[in-house]
Amino acid sequence: MQTKGPLRSTEDDITPEDNTFGERLALVRWIGRDYLAKHWAWFIAAFFFMSIEGAMFGALSYMMKPMFDRVFVGGEANMIGLVGLIFFGIFTIRAIAGIAQKTILGRVSQISVNELREDLLRHVMRLDGSFHQTYGPGYLMQRLSGDVNTINSVWKAVLTGAGRDAVALISLFGVAFAIDWQWTLVALVGAPVLILPAFAIQRFLRGTSRRARDMQAGLSTRLNEIFTGIVPIKLNTLEDYQAGRFRALADRLLWVKIRSSAASAAVPGLIDIMSGMGFAAVLYFGGSEIMSGDKTVGDFVAFFTAIGLAFEPLRRLGALSGTLQPALAGLERLRELFDLEPEVRDPARPKPAPASMPEVRLEAVTAGYGDTAVLRGASFTAEAGKVTALVGPSGAGKSTVFNLLTRLIDPKNGAVTLDGVPTHEMKLGDLRALYSVVSQDALLFDESLRDNILLGREDISEERLQAALDAAHVTSFLPDIEGGLDAPVGPRGSKLSGGQRQRVAIARAILRDTPVLLLDEATSALDARVEAEVQEALDRLARGRTSLVIAHRLSTIRDADRIVVLQEGRVAQEGTHESLLAEGGLYADLHRLQVDSSR
Ligand code: ADP
Repeated sequence: MQTKGPLRSTEDDITPEDNTFGERLALVRWIGRDYLAKHWAWFIAAFFFMSIEGAMFGALSYMMKPMFDRVFVGGEANMIGLVGLIFFGIFTIRAIAGIAQKTILGRVSQISVNELREDLLRHVMRLDGSFHQTYGPGYLMQRLSGDVNTINSVWKAVLTGAGRDAVALISLFGVAFAIDWQWTLVALVGAPVLILPAFAIQRFLRGTSRRARDMQAGLSTRLNEIFTGIVPIKLNTLEDYQAGRFRALADRLLWVKIRSSAASAAVPGLIDIMSGMGFAAVLYFGGSEIMSGDKTVGDFVAFFTAIGLAFEPLRRLGALSGTLQPALAGLERLRELFDLEPEVRDPARPKPAPASMPEVRLEAVTAGYGDTAVLRGASFTAEAGKVTALVGPSGAGKSTVFNLLTRLIDPKNGAVTLDGVPTHEMKLGDLRALYSVVSQDALLFDESLRDNILLGREDISEERLQAALDAAHVTSFLPDIEGGLDAPVGPRGSKLSGGQRQRVAIARAILRDTPVLLLDEATSALDARVEAEVQEALDRLARGRTSLVIAHRLSTIRDADRIVVLQEGRVAQEGTHESLLAEGGLYADLHRLQVDSSR
């Protein structure tokens, strides 16, 4: 697992106090402003229903008084029907108001969570390649699903539960106060006992829940590694090893979770103890007043019902911190992600991208990944409309040239220009629209072949598609594929061979019809017939474009207009196949090696 970046990793230890109250408030304000504020009208409606629902708790306890004093004790039989009806009414109103507010807030929370998730996805896709190398798909998937979901469940719990419970508490204590304010104060004697431990538990919970989310991200990273590497794992019988690695992390998570559920349970527990103290105290002080007749049985029952009913919302509000803490931890992690800015981004005042096939030039370019330089002062020109081949030993920096052209990375020194305009002075979208990239590891999605070739474009007629399929020699392997064009190609195109995937990439490039072609040749050998077909399709594709070809087998680039030989990040030789052979040196050596090995 790689965890060298600025974000918190699974292995990092996190102290719960590393955020101030102000920072937490800022998080809540951010969500409030960007995602909740626009739903204000719905919030008002929901709050209206919540208030009604909460107030019904107070009404319920208040109705105990006439029920006891007038019906049970006073014996007014004619009141039975009325009191019963009122009770029924209270429950019905509470139910309707509850349904209404839950539906409204459920809607708001789903909508806002969807928006948040989409914003996050867009943002993460903008981040640099180096970011995505540091944080693997598993980690990011956990951020996008796990953290976002925590927030969702909590929003719902907090918004639907907390509002109603707060109103319920107010109305219940109102009733209790109206009956006897002294009793009410006595009932609350236990409260101060609660405060300090509750704070300590909250802090603890915040730390553990954050740690738990970190570890969950680690677990999904590990799962992702396992499932993407399932074949090598099987071949090397690494199942036990991988299961052990997974288990080790899962066990650590287990303990964090056990500790955190114990702490979550402690808060309602404390409230129970406080309630017990309150009950005992009121009985002690109030019991004599009832026996002496100063207070009615109805007062007593209504009071205790109010206090008794108050425990439940009080417990829930107390337990809320246990729910809130993971949400804050999740929010914090999302904010950290949102705060990262890509280094590769649009210029403030962009220049237009070349309209037709441009000349591509590298001028004394130094570039690399992190602190390691891969290109060290490389200069060459790929002429407009010509085919320029890049050759050289593995690791010489050929792919890095493509990464520079497409601005997956930027040069540290020197310039990369298209018709004289440095790449970083164009809009990223405009720049990337200039290229078609064809390689054997073309990205395929688990959709039909047709969708994989069209990639969402709807402006392409059936004839044009057919012409592209023919030109790319996709047509020649279509009969071998059950279901043809409309058959799904499997996850990452697993149902297609390397040569087939490459032809899909060629078909895409034909339809894309861009001024520059970047071709990363197949590394694995194709059989002779397929190779000839692919080569012919590529030659046709290169016509009328500026083409750069990374050549792994020199046989395919004999006809290139220019061959650039890279060695250790510099241009060692340049020329045509013939001139380079005549010149001797690296190219001639590479050529001899390949000819020998193919004998
Ligand atoms: P070539 O295509 O000529 O084989 P590359 O340009 O792919 O060479 O890579 C040159 C060197 O840069 C290699 O040593 C490789 O390990 C390193 N490298 C390539 N891509 C990355 C990357 N994304 N992050 C870190 N190092 C990389």
